[in-house]
Amino acid sequence: MSDWLLLPLILLAIGIGWYLGRRERKGSRYYELGLRHLLNDEPDQAVATLVTELNVDNDNVDTHLALGGLLRRRGELEKAVFVHENILKWARLDQAARHNVQMELARDYLQAGLLDRAESMSMTLAAENPQYRSESLKIALQVYEQERDWHRAIEIAKQVTGGAEEAQIERAISHYLCELAELSMIQKDPESAKDFLVDAIGHFAQNPRVSLLQGRIALEAGDPLAAIRFLERIIEQEPVYVAESMVLLETAHQAMGSEDAYRRYLEHCLTHFPSISVVLALGRVIRDQEGTDALARFIANQMTQNPTLRGFIELIDINLGDAEGAMRQNLHLLKDFAETMIADKPNYRCGDCGFEGKRMRWHCPSCRGWASIRPIFGLEGE
Ligand SMILES: [Zn+2]
Repeated sequence: MSDWLLLPLILLAIGIGWYLGRRERKGSRYYELGLRHLLNDEPDQAVATLVTELNVDNDNVDTHLALGGLLRRRGELEKAVFVHENILKWARLDQAARHNVQMELARDYLQAGLLDRAESMSMTLAAENPQYRSESLKIALQVYEQERDWHRAIEIAKQVTGGAEEAQIERAISHYLCELAELSMIQKDPESAKDFLVDAIGHFAQNPRVSLLQGRIALEAGDPLAAIRFLERIIEQEPVYVAESMVLLETAHQAMGSEDAYRRYLEHCLTHFPSISVVLALGRVIRDQEGTDALARFIANQMTQNPTLRGFIELIDINLGDAEGAMRQNLHLLKDFAETMIADKPNYRCGDCGFEGKRMRWHCPSCRGWASIRPIFGLEGE
C-alpha cells in the first residue's frame, strides 16, 4: 500500500477513534480492529471494518465522506460507491448532507463508467439544489460526451451559464455541432452539415475545425473557390492547424488552376507560422513552376532555418534523382534511417494532459479537452 494513502487513512482512523472516545465505547472494538488492519497494510479489511461496522450518524458523516473521497481519488471506485451509498441509507440524513453525498456519488458513478446512474443522480441533484446545479450539469455533460449524444450535450451545455468557464463551454458546444456536422456528412446530407456548422460559428467564431469541414463540404460539392475561401481562414484563426488543411487546399487550387494564388498563400503562412507541411507544399509549387534545382535550393535554405526530419527526407529524395552507384546507396541508407526515426514518433500531443497519438483528434481521449491536441513541432514533427 502506498505511503500517500496510508497516512490519510491512519489520520482518518485516529479521527474516528477520537470521536468514539468522546461519545461512546460501543464502536471502539471495530475502530481498534480497523486501525490494526491499516497498520498491517490490509486496506481492504480496514475499509470494510471502518465502514460497515461504524454506523453513520450526525457526528461522523464528514468522516465517511472523507473516506469515500479518498477511495475515489485512489481509483477504488467500487469501495467509494459502497461508502457513499452507505451514507445515503442513513434515514436521518438532512437534505444538505444528502445533496452533498449525492454529488460525491455522481462523481463516483461517472469515474466508474456507470453512466446511467451518473446521469440520473446529477440531473436529479441539478433540479433539486441550485448550489450543485452547475457542477451536476457538468457531470451530465461528460456522460453525454462519452455516449456521443451530441444533441443532449448541447441542450445541457446551454444550461451551464455564467462563471469563468463560459468561454470553454461555448467552445465545447461548437465542437458538439462539428460532431453532428461530421455525422451528417457520413450520411451524405451536406445541407444539414452546413446548418450545424453555421450554428457552430455562433458559439465559437474562430473555430478552425468549422473552416476545415466547410472547406471539405465545398470541395465535395464541386466548389473549389468556396473551399479555398473557407480553408484559408485557418491561418488567421489558429495557424497551428494550417497543416491539417494542406491536402484539401492543394486539391482545390489544382481544380481552380490558381497556382500563383496558392503560392502567395503558402508564402504568407511560411512568414507567419512556419511548418514543414507548408514548406513541402510550397516546395511542390516551386518544383512545378521553376524546376528541381529551385526546389532543392528552397528546401536546403528552409532546413537551415527550421531543421526537421521530414525536410531532411525531402532533401534526400531530391538528390536521389541524380545520384548513381555508391552515392545512391548511401542516400537510400540515410533516407531509411531518417524514416525509421520518425516512424514510431507521435505526430500530435495534448497540451493539457500530454496524451500523444499518430492521428489528429479534436477531443482528447485522456483528459477529454476540446481542441487541446495539436501537431507536434520540432525536429521530429512539424
Ligand atoms: Zn488531454
